[in-house]
Order: sequence, then structure tokens, then C-alpha cells
Amino acid sequence: MGLVGWPLAHSVSPRLFRDAFRRAGLPWRYERFPVQPNGLARLVASLRAQDVRGFNVTIPHKQAVRAFLDTESPAARAVGAVNCVRIRNGKLWGTNTDLAAFVADLRAHRMAASVRGKRVVLLGAGGAARACAFGLLSLRPSELVIANRDLRRARNLAADVRRAALSPRRRVRVSAVALRSASPKIRRAALLVNATSVGLRAGDRLPISDAFLRAPLAVYDLLYNPPVTDLLRRARLHGCLAVGGIGMLTRQAAAAFRLWTGRKPSPGAFDPVNLGHHMITKRR
Ligand code: NDP
Repeated sequence: MGLVGWPLAHSVSPRLFRDAFRRAGLPWRYERFPVQPNGLARLVASLRAQDVRGFNVTIPHKQAVRAFLDTESPAARAVGAVNCVRIRNGKLWGTNTDLAAFVADLRAHRMAASVRGKRVVLLGAGGAARACAFGLLSLRPSELVIANRDLRRARNLAADVRRAALSPRRRVRVSAVALRSASPKIRRAALLVNATSVGLRAGDRLPISDAFLRAPLAVYDLLYNPPVTDLLRRARLHGCLAVGGIGMLTRQAAAAFRLWTGRKPSPGAFDPVNLGHHMITKRR
């Protein structure tokens, strides 16, 4: 098993899975497979040929990897992004465990109910943002604003979400804006979600003005390392409920574990509290 992406240095998935396999008494390994886009096809072909049960997919390959799969789940098809692949008899099956993990973590932090009938602003239009957009749709906001650096990508995602939201039960206004113009949209939003990779590197700062980060706005940042991103720090300073992505990470990882092993994780595995502690001690 392993993680396919670029860059991978920040990822805690290897530690998470090795701990879970050890607790389950499984002699399995979980490796990092760092690969740039031009090497993805060759890497996937080599994983297919080896004795590998599956792999996770992260930035920037969640959409591109679909081209190499034999089949995919309805969730992967709906979202248009795959973060978990299972290999059986040389056949690759892809799914998306980010969507359910994101919604479950919003619920766990009591951020989901406040979305109903309200505006939500989603930053990003990559693989993770796609899962978030469809997850948010299930919470019935009145409006979803998708903001991205590449406006064309935001428009494409908005169009896909609009198509999915066509049924009267799910009527929601969906719009796309450039990331640098997102701040005023946050004013009347109940929830701001960061699904860009801005914040991974020290000194990274989203072009979001502090003037709009005010309670009762809730802020969810998918980044989990560092545990407190610049966005979370600023949002908390202004009284917002602000949560990082570690709970989403552990929930999607636990789902991958179940898919690969057919078992429930052992008690203590995929525990965000343990992982948060590891990450903070690592940074001291
Ligand atoms: P993608 O590469 O598919 O998308 C990256 C996104 O970040 C795009 O919207 C991109 O905008 C934006 N972006 C990148 N650099 C910049 C920049 N300098 N300024 C503005 N926008 C930028 O990655 P994913 O969608 O897979 O992942 C996004 C983030 O979410 C990652 O940090 C990842 O670690 C995290 N994540 C966390 C999960 C969790 O469980 N907590 C699960 C999945 C992801 P553009 O389109 O303009 O390039």
C-alpha cells in the first residue's frame, strides 16, 4: 500500500497506516510514492504489476488517476476525483472517500447544521474541492460560491455542481469567482472552507481579508499539517469556530483501511488526538 502524490513530505499517512496495520497484526507496508504528473502512468502500471492491494492518491493526481482505472464507484464518478484505489487480480477500482469524510467531520464539529439555507464559500477547485463541493450540496446550503486562482477551473466545477443540483430538492445557487475576489463573498456566509493547498508551506497566505473573518462564520481548513494554519489562526483571533482537516484525514484513511482489509480498524487506530499529538511533538 502507499500514497501517490507530489509533494509528499508533509504527509502523515504513512505513520497513520503503519500504526493501523501494526495494531491489526497485519505485516503490511505503506510507502510514499512521490511522482510528478509526467510519471503517473508509469507508476500506476508498476503498482498494478506488483503485489499491492491498493493506494491512496493525493495532490495533484486525484483527477488524472481516473484515466488509468478499470472501474470506479458512483461517488468517484459524481465527484470526478479519486483518492483511494483498490487492486484485485490486476484490476484497479477507484473511489472517493474524501466526500463522506468531509461531511462526517463537519457534523462531528457541529458545523453542518448551520449550512442549511445559508451561503457557503469554498476556496479551491482541485480534487479535494470537488469532494467538498458535492458534500456541501448534501447539506442543502442556499448558495455555494466557488473561488479559485484559476477561474476557469472554478467555473467548470460550478457547472458540474449545478448539474447535480438540478433536482428541486437540491436547488442551490452556485457561482464561481476568482480567489482574489472571494473576500466580500464571505461577509454573509455561514461557512468558509479552504480546499486549496495554500498553507502547506510556511509563509503561505490566502488572499482573504481579516475584515471578513468574523463570528458567526465557521471556518474549515482541509490542511492538517501544520495543525494550525495561517487561516485558522486568523479566524480564531476574530472569534470564529475554526477547525483543521485532521479529522477528515483520519476518517478517509479509516475508510481506505476498511476497503483494503475488509476489516474495521482496531481501537486507537486513526485517532486524530494521537495524530495531532505526534505532529505537534514532531515540530518542537
Ligand atoms: P489539487 O492539486 O487537486 O488542487 C490544488 C488547489 O489549490 C487548486 O484549487 C489550486 O488552484 C490551489 N492552489 C495551489 N497553489 C495555489 C496558490 N499558490 N495560490 C492559490 N491557489 C493555489 O490538490 P487537492 O485538491 O488534492 O488538495 C488540496 C489541499 O487539500 C491539499 O493541501 C491537501 O493536502 C488537502 N487535503 C486534505 C484532506 C484531508 O483529509 N484533510 C483530503 C484531501 C486534500 P489552481 O486550480 O488555480 O491551481
